[in-house]
Amino acid sequence: MGSRHPGMYRTAPSVTHCGDCGARVLACWHEGWHEVLEDAELSQVGEIAALMSGRRTFELCAKQLYRRTPYRIRNHPAPVISVVLTEHVCGTTIERALRRPEPEAAVDEHAPPPF
Ligand SMILES: [Zn+2]
Repeated sequence: MGSRHPGMYRTAPSVTHCGDCGARVLACWHEGWHEVLEDAELSQVGEIAALMSGRRTFELCAKQLYRRTPYRIRNHPAPVISVVLTEHVCGTTIERALRRPEPEAAVDEHAPPPF
């Protein structure tokens, strides 16, 4: 959690680099707090791992950041349109196994077989 801005100031997250470790991160103002987030999208397992390690999680939808509260997690355990992010911790990386899988490439059912 970063410094506090007076009021409930909000900005859309933008890609930047952590001033301490240089990692690629997302930064924004969220409800008056300056938040620095990992740029990796979490899977459900990734979110559980983040929460168990004491990190807060957020949901990014249409450039708006929302805190993943127990209510929100219960009602939207695996958001489809939005992505789940967690706060940045210097010197750590989000393992590939904890990241949201890349969408599979569309298969053209009418394409000739590749042999
Ligand atoms: Zn850092």
